[in-house]
Amino acid sequence: MSTTAKHQVLIVGGGTAGITVAARLLRKGYSDVAVIEPSTTHYYQPLWTLVGAGQAKASITERPESSVMPTGAVWINKAANAFDPENNTVTCTDGATYGYDVLVVCPGIQLDWEATEGLEDALGRDGVSSNYRFDLAPRTWDFIRSLRSGTAVFTVPSGAIKCAGAPQKIAYLASDYWRKKGVLNDIDVHLVMPGPRPFGIPAIADSLDKVIVDYGITLHSSSEVTSVDAASHKVGISSVGSGGTDTMLPYDVLHAVPRQSAPDWVKSSPLSTGDAVGYVEIDKHTMQHVRYPNVFSLGDAGSSPNSKTGAAIRKQAPVVVENVDAFLKRQPLRASYDGYSSCPIVTSSHAMLLAEFDYDLNLEPSFPLLDPTKPHRAYWYLKKYGLPFMYWNLMLKGLA
Ligand SMILES: Cc1cc2nc3c(=O)[nH]c(=O)nc-3n(C[C@H](O)[C@H](O)[C@H](O)COP(=O)(O)OP(=O)(O)OC[C@H]3O[C@@H](n4cnc5c(N)ncnc54)[C@H](O)[C@@H]3O)c2cc1C
Repeated sequence: MSTTAKHQVLIVGGGTAGITVAARLLRKGYSDVAVIEPSTTHYYQPLWTLVGAGQAKASITERPESSVMPTGAVWINKAANAFDPENNTVTCTDGATYGYDVLVVCPGIQLDWEATEGLEDALGRDGVSSNYRFDLAPRTWDFIRSLRSGTAVFTVPSGAIKCAGAPQKIAYLASDYWRKKGVLNDIDVHLVMPGPRPFGIPAIADSLDKVIVDYGITLHSSSEVTSVDAASHKVGISSVGSGGTDTMLPYDVLHAVPRQSAPDWVKSSPLSTGDAVGYVEIDKHTMQHVRYPNVFSLGDAGSSPNSKTGAAIRKQAPVVVENVDAFLKRQPLRASYDGYSSCPIVTSSHAMLLAEFDYDLNLEPSFPLLDPTKPHRAYWYLKKYGLPFMYWNLMLKGLA
């Protein structure tokens, strides 16, 4: 098959990972770098939590893709839909085929709304919303600020998701708002989560247990929402993995987060792990594909078992760039990712806990003077102002 064009490094996805890697490669002296990216808008998703809590405007989370595409990168404004790693090509939905010496795969994660019966149809009306969509985050705030009494349900799905802390952060921010308005005692708040505890690190789970008790939230651990009945305003809750419905819980406000997996076209490709979630199968330290040495992946679409966040990508991107460089120079791959991720858990409108950890759940605090297992006011300012500034001005430019 003849190719439309060939590039030394071809990147699929111009989100957090793709733009960061492109910028770093160009800074390193690579000049033939192309990014396949269908969207004309780039989003800073971590702020959607604060948008849903009325603490930030949705408009400050979006910028034109053209403004973040690094100077010197070729932007292929199309959607990829097939990989042929035997022939070193990627095909797009318009039929055009692009060749490469090295491929970097980072098209993000797929939101599987349909995996929860009734959820997709209920979204955006009658109290049901999700901060996982740019257009819906402002609706979350509409529903939270309008509630004065009743039942609010916040859900965390089973399986790996992007920013596993985000579904519980909004429960705390909403509770904090209702307390300030003097109505928290009139609202029955429920948090449904698949894990036995609110966090995988015991010291942080202890801290979050206190936050949950303080707000009077009812925690449904080892559970998940399996259905939404919008007509009767009820959600079906079951024990994780049981499949059936154990309880029907009424709601006036429902913040729901969908299950997630690799995009379907990645799942069915030769690059996939081949299991139900189907991420790009890479070595968790070198980020190199386990079967195709000239393919690398990072970010939400990669199979490395880290917590899927932008913070993880900040540490993965330099490793991918070092190893792509070594691969092209026929040298051994020396850069290694240790699984670092961070989970900024906003616990109120003025406090945040910053959990930073590696593959072995060892804490890796960037600010050792602040106890990483406790919420701090300084972190809230970091979340609202410091991290967005760092993202747009440093990370996407390959400088941090
Ligand atoms: C509500 C919420 C809160 C979050 N909070 C935090 C937080 O506090 N801290 C943190 O670090 N992270 C947080 N995250 C997670 C963070 O935003 C993601 O982990 C990160 O953006 C993943 O980067 P990525 O490049 O893998 O995917 P994305 O940034 O999602 O980019 C994927 C790109 O691929 C493109 N694409 C899609 N299909 C195709 C295709 N067929 N061909 C080519 N390109 C395609 C998309 O248009 C997109 O531009 C949060 C996310 C959400 C939703």
